[in-house]
Amino acid sequence: MIPNNMIWADDNPEMALTKPVRVGNSLTVGGQDVILMTGPCSVESYDQTRTVAQEVARLGGRVLRGGAYKPRTSPYSFQGLGREGLEILRAVADEFDLLVVTEALGVEQLPLVAEYTDIIQIGSRNMQHYPLLWAAGEFDKPVLLKRGFMSTVDEWLKAAEHISSRGNDRIVLCERGIRSFETATRNTLDTNAIALIKQTSPYPILADPSHATGRADLVFAAARAAVAAGADGLLVEFHNNPAEALSDADQALPLAALARFRDEVGKVAQAVGRGIR
Ligand code: PEP
Ligand code: MN
Repeated sequence: MIPNNMIWADDNPEMALTKPVRVGNSLTVGGQDVILMTGPCSVESYDQTRTVAQEVARLGGRVLRGGAYKPRTSPYSFQGLGREGLEILRAVADEFDLLVVTEALGVEQLPLVAEYTDIIQIGSRNMQHYPLLWAAGEFDKPVLLKRGFMSTVDEWLKAAEHISSRGNDRIVLCERGIRSFETATRNTLDTNAIALIKQTSPYPILADPSHATGRADLVFAAARAAVAAGADGLLVEFHNNPAEALSDADQALPLAALARFRDEVGKVAQAVGRGIR
């Protein structure tokens, strides 16, 4: 149980413990601005990824998301392009001066993923994959640690310590929804956890409203709620043609919605005294 050391959060601004994490040379997560990390669930092709990256950059985004190694529930689903996907991500990100966040599924992939990415993503299914956490702790790259969908906040923070115990404390947490009794949505966004992390952990916290809801029509609302709760950023899936997406088609927002998304999230960020990037 995490101790309740709060009297009243709004009267105790010093209780915001967040230590900003540097990403690349020009960005920090956990500072004044809410950082949007947007892009497709999977890197599917050069043209698809470039189209998305171009729009992300045009609107002032700084970080492109996209999976090259995909942790799919079914072994018969698209598993990602692997190394080719990493090459595509890096090429288009460099063209548009973006930073990259992408997932490493296993220890053996880490060196390659770390070479191509600016943030190493450890996925929900791997949150307690200790050898992967230890190995990520040896790199000089920030790590995005997603919450296991069956994991408590305590287990999640302990997982982060497995990374930091190896020397790398550039850790960013990501609340991506947990499994509950509710089946109307893919997962349940735990906004409590976002507020709790802000008050009890030094690590910046992102939210992933795409995996948390599993429905494109709920992503805006979940994103606004997460930012209102204190999230330092959002990881969100956008696709140039959601109906044809090779993974997570139901939750992908169309690229055409990105401008409005930034606008709406920006209004909530402003209401809580922050900007967006
Ligand atoms: C992802 O963000 O690409 C992903 C697979 O998410 P999660 O690990 O949260 O399921
Ligand atoms: Mn996805």
